[in-house]
Amino acid sequence: MSDAAPPVLHLTGPILVDETHELSEAWVHDGRIHHERPDLPASTEVRRIDGAVVPGLADLHCHLGIGDGGGGISLAEARAQALTDRDTGVLLIRDAGSIIDNSPLQQQDDLPRLIRCGRHLARTRRYLIGYADEVEPEDLPRAVAREAGRSDGWVKLVGDWIDRPVGDLSPCWDADTFTAAAQAAHDHGARITAHTFAEQTLPLLLDAGFDCLEHATGLTADTIARAADADVPVVTTLVNVDAFETYARQGEKKFPTYSAHMRRLREQRFERTRDALDAGVKLLTGTDAGGVLSHGIIHDELDELATAGLTATEILTAAAWEPRRFLNVPGLEDGAPADLLVVPRDPREDHRALRDLTHVVLRGSVVVG
Ligand SMILES: [Zn+2]
Repeated sequence: MSDAAPPVLHLTGPILVDETHELSEAWVHDGRIHHERPDLPASTEVRRIDGAVVPGLADLHCHLGIGDGGGGISLAEARAQALTDRDTGVLLIRDAGSIIDNSPLQQQDDLPRLIRCGRHLARTRRYLIGYADEVEPEDLPRAVAREAGRSDGWVKLVGDWIDRPVGDLSPCWDADTFTAAAQAAHDHGARITAHTFAEQTLPLLLDAGFDCLEHATGLTADTIARAADADVPVVTTLVNVDAFETYARQGEKKFPTYSAHMRRLREQRFERTRDALDAGVKLLTGTDAGGVLSHGIIHDELDELATAGLTATEILTAAAWEPRRFLNVPGLEDGAPADLLVVPRDPREDHRALRDLTHVVLRGSVVVG
């Protein structure tokens, strides 16, 4: 690595600070974004970059350290996953559970910012084999407390899964256990989120005080209203929900009720997403890459949101602005760390402009472009 300071960047905008606030220019200096031209010696090298500027995109549900097809991978391979994401414009990741300890990636300045959930917690034999720490209800609060201590303030619980004797999705825990899990997370200063597909699980999670919902394919008019009221956001993962057809086909013979249920959830996905947003539920983008889906698919998720009827600005809210507010990570405000993207066209007119990145700036350095 060179010791030379990176050049000062002069961004000519528009700089899309948030939904209602835009600037005509900004500067990047000393790793931070400046709304006013900084005081610089005359000899300072200034590089001018033209184009619309947005905060780095966020993926609130992916897995760094789980290989395609499942199983833990090496740290070097997890790094490659993070680089793949970065080069598509994802500069903020909330890892939704990893088999390996991926915390060393947080020391690597050329990788996206990473907020870890630690390891998934699941009920014994009620999740993909080998992914989660599998526990029984009496041990769950202790496991939650442990992950709260190991992670970056987030715990991830698998809330429902196929119940083979029943032949359908069902909640993995009863109401008291969900409540005890949320309590344990909050007592240890963490927030807690849950993987949930089924309709029945959502009232239990909302009653228990969960802070976030993953997938949430089972949202109904009632639970949409409740999530909006409690300001509990939904991480979309629509690319993953599209793959429900594969699960449905795999389970068809042995579990026909489950298969039909998965197909129904898939069919409703766009309408449910749009209804949730219309009712005031905050949507946050997630890809669920790592494990089944490959990394680098954030733009496919944005396309799915467009299919659900979100406008380009609503997509930017879900992918860039809202996740940063939710995770308390700065965006493009004056003095914030410069994690930003430059695109040639205004992405508020067409979200697909985000695919045409000309520059990716991470911690004030141009890493792409
Ligand atoms: Zn996942």
